[in-house]
Amino acid sequence: MIERFVVDSGAYETWLAGHQDQYVINAERILNPDNLVLHRATCRTINGTPAHGATWVGSYVKLVGTREELETAHPAARPCRQCL
Ligand SMILES: [Zn+2]
Repeated sequence: MIERFVVDSGAYETWLAGHQDQYVINAERILNPDNLVLHRATCRTINGTPAHGATWVGSYVKLVGTREELETAHPAARPCRQCL
């Protein structure tokens, strides 16, 4: 089941730590279909410490689940060039 993280509560980071075999769509808050990027949960562009004091969830939101779930729900999502 797809989960959606829309506030910077630390819940996304907790989910990442427990689901490194799953996938993440990084999306604008309005879910603009032209700007959805699918990542492996291990991708360094969505893990670790965000640059310059930014947060992982805020102007961008995170949709998480299996690759099949995310691709089915968001067929416009583009694969990340770093991890997929
Ligand atoms: Zn990636």
